Amino acid sequence: MERGFLPPFPHFATRAIHAGQDPEQWRSGAVVPPISLSTTFKQRAPGEHAGYEYSRSGNPTRDCLEKAVAALDGAKYSLAYSSGLAALLNICHLLKTGDTIICMDDVYGGTNRYFRRIASEIGLKVVFVDCTKPKCLEAAITPQTKLIWIETPTNPMMKVIDIRACADEAHKHGDVLLAVDNTFMSPYFQCPLSLGADICMNSATKYLNGHSDVVMGLVSVNRDDLYERLKFLQNSLGAIPSAFDCYLCNRGLKTLPIRMKQHFHNALAVAQFLESHSRVEKVLFPGLPSHPQHELMKRQCTGCPGMITFYIKGNLKHATAFLKSLKVFTLAESLGGYESLAEHPAIMTHASVPQEEREALGITDTLIRLSVGLEDEEDLLADLDQALKAAFA
Ligand SMILES: *Cc1c(COP(=O)(O)O)cnc(C)c1O
Repeated sequence: MERGFLPPFPHFATRAIHAGQDPEQWRSGAVVPPISLSTTFKQRAPGEHAGYEYSRSGNPTRDCLEKAVAALDGAKYSLAYSSGLAALLNICHLLKTGDTIICMDDVYGGTNRYFRRIASEIGLKVVFVDCTKPKCLEAAITPQTKLIWIETPTNPMMKVIDIRACADEAHKHGDVLLAVDNTFMSPYFQCPLSLGADICMNSATKYLNGHSDVVMGLVSVNRDDLYERLKFLQNSLGAIPSAFDCYLCNRGLKTLPIRMKQHFHNALAVAQFLESHSRVEKVLFPGLPSHPQHELMKRQCTGCPGMITFYIKGNLKHATAFLKSLKVFTLAESLGGYESLAEHPAIMTHASVPQEEREALGITDTLIRLSVGLEDEEDLLADLDQALKAAFA
């Protein structure tokens, strides 16, 4: 069943290991990029320097990471930020007061909160639209629309959006930018820029770093003008990651391909197990043929990450008992690390989404989200099985 998706992107693992890492760039010949902690760099004469002046505007360790991520995103440029939300903030600073953003109706809780409670208060208009329906998107675009923001698959409802169709719609209207939050997929499974998106954003906190020990965001673009403006904003807004975090994330990238393959393998086993379990109402996993957009997923992706959402039978009491009974899965927010996590979106990650909206989207008391990690498949299945039994004991 892992077949039928797009073939893996060529040279991906080689790029993950070598892009931006050339030992010749260091006098020492270091094979692993050094952690450059210096905040300032010597100039030979005023204004005459080796490419670095001050660590906010440019840092050697950050450069290595940005080059590697650009290579993986199929982009000319990539820029790193202190978090995924800092990346979102920088992208929104491409806009001006009075501009409109169209946002997919089902997005990361923090994105929803930023758009609703901050961007809308400082002169940007944000409208939430179901972008899985091209007609709805088309109807929502006005002359004020400057940015379309989508995630696919969505968090937590796993709706799949046709990136190419959104890009075509956006580009019918001149200067409307399509930005894709690619956090769930990572560049290993999906390449939004090659599907026509203008901006690819990643919360590296998740799969890119993959070890749950760095908070970081990355933005990749091909357009020179967008890069120039974003580079200016990166320095001017100042939300940059530390050199140490850049080092860790750069290291995490080296195993991205093998991690993603194993996430997919384990997630598929978990999804099939849950789908056949009598205590499970419904499983949302775009890698299963039962998912309504499975075919679209296969057309635009090379595979599926470890993200699974499901409805447990019963009520909040059963969902809570299940989550408390897990032993291998840890009850915690976040996703994309080597360790398996489980969480309750309505109470945890999506608590900031207004209740009516949550209910309209299907984020109910019995909805559970899993981030399937890299443990042994049989241990994951056994853990889920015992917790499902315990929930109904
Ligand atoms: C975590 C996450 C973000 C925000 O990233 P941070 O690094 O936590 O700021 C944005 N989008 C998605 C899909 C995420 O999962």
